[in-house]
Amino acid sequence: MNYEQPMNSKLIRNVWAVGRNYADHAAEMKVEVPKSPMIFLKAGTSVETGSKIKLPTWSKDVHHELEIAYWIDDKLEFTYLTLALDLTARDAQAEAKAKGQPWTMAKSFTGSCPLGSWISLQDAGPLDELTFELKKNQQVVQIGSAKEMIFKPEILLQFIKKHFPVSGSDILLTGTPAGVGPLQSGDLLQATLQSGNRKLLACHWDVE
Ligand code: ZN
Repeated sequence: MNYEQPMNSKLIRNVWAVGRNYADHAAEMKVEVPKSPMIFLKAGTSVETGSKIKLPTWSKDVHHELEIAYWIDDKLEFTYLTLALDLTARDAQAEAKAKGQPWTMAKSFTGSCPLGSWISLQDAGPLDELTFELKKNQQVVQIGSAKEMIFKPEILLQFIKKHFPVSGSDILLTGTPAGVGPLQSGDLLQATLQSGNRKLLACHWDVE
């Protein structure tokens, strides 16, 4: 099977993301699991492909959220996946939630979507065998298993195609498992993605 190679990540258009897609993360946030996908947007220009994370000066509480991300091709199908950090200014998010305001400030700031390199779905193997892990300063902080997703990636794709102007070169973030936490200048993040015992991807980021 031939796959269209993902373009330079600078060309990413929309970043569709889903909140509360793992029950353990919803529990740690003390929120209910949604009955239909809770979709929000991050700006396509918030994507970063380097290994540096620059924290916004105006937030004192930027959290890591490690997630599996899918590339959407011109046929509006998934062809590649990688790991992404859905960086979240938790203080701005709490304020927005309290006031009933949108999450844009919390979710879509400059540099808020670091991405790893793309792996074809063929190489990645079955969804249910995918597991991922984030270490902060050598300590494991997040462990995820794709089979624990409340809404599977294909269901999320159908949902966003039904409701939004999805286009080729968009990406979809599929939600984070429990263990989110704050980042500080000097932190080292290391993320891995596995299919069963097979390591698919390793990424690292330095927090500036
Ligand atoms: Zn997230």
